[in-house]
Amino acid sequence: TTAKSDYIWFNGEMVPWADAKIHVMSHALHYGTSVFEGVRCYETNKGPAIFRHKEHAQRLLNSAKIYRFPVPYSLEEIMEATRQVIKKNNLKSAYIRPLAFIGDVGMGVIPPAGYQTDVMIAAFPWGAYLGEDALEQGIDAMVSSWNRFAPNTIPAAAKAGGNYLSSLLIGSEARANGFQEGIALDVNGQLSEGSGENLFIVKDGILFTPLLSSSALPGITRDAIITLARDLGIEVREQTLSRESLYLADEVFMTGTAAEITPVRSVDRIQVGIGRCGPITKQIQQTFFGLFNGKTEDKYGWLDLIK
Ligand code: PMP
Repeated sequence: TTAKSDYIWFNGEMVPWADAKIHVMSHALHYGTSVFEGVRCYETNKGPAIFRHKEHAQRLLNSAKIYRFPVPYSLEEIMEATRQVIKKNNLKSAYIRPLAFIGDVGMGVIPPAGYQTDVMIAAFPWGAYLGEDALEQGIDAMVSSWNRFAPNTIPAAAKAGGNYLSSLLIGSEARANGFQEGIALDVNGQLSEGSGENLFIVKDGILFTPLLSSSALPGITRDAIITLARDLGIEVREQTLSRESLYLADEVFMTGTAAEITPVRSVDRIQVGIGRCGPITKQIQQTFFGLFNGKTEDKYGWLDLIK
């Protein structure tokens, strides 16, 4: 691949981008056995800062725990390696991709006793996931014909590589039909989330978001938005939500590390609210981005400043 930065941390060492390779017989390639994170580092007036670094590192280890993957590094070691990747590549802002996976441990779905996962951490510049324009204008989304996986099939709390086959079906169906993103229902037909984003609805000044039990990933941005909205005095309700609540919403937006806070201006070609970023979405966006430009106080210690 074309180098997006100079070095990738791979099993404890800084390896040049072009040399960070694995074998074609790697278990993860055959069976989807990886867990990963998407983390952002923002440029702030105090230097580069990793947003909710500890929560991301913890979710990586939680995902591994669910699948009984032995990761040979501690939370602190993973966090320190991540800081070193940012520094080594001289990055001011970056998208960070830590990944723990089952490597070339031999064939068979059940890995041999005593194996350990491989771990890599890459960091590289990456702009707005759904486009700069999307943050202001909003995106057109469709409700996917594919549901999210049932809770007793694949655990939604683990951010595992294999989960993204579901995201690929949801997201690529939407794009093939001329939409920018797909929204999935859970197996009961209630709202779940986007292919790579959590979902929020504003109705009569109240902020609603689907329950995590609707097979949604416990998004770290979702958690931050719930917290920031409550601080702004906005009532937040996590509850079961119907598909049609999207059509009747005053505002809809999606959240994620990559997507940040992206308004949804239409769903299934039905205009949502005013058809662009609504006032509450705007207020929440400004409060969120304020964490990085200094306008919002970092009162929860969410910024890990790299010195
Ligand atoms: N849902 C899915 C399926 C995702 O891939 C992501 C991105 N990690 C999210 C939600 C948002 O999670 P976060 O805010 O932690 O990035």
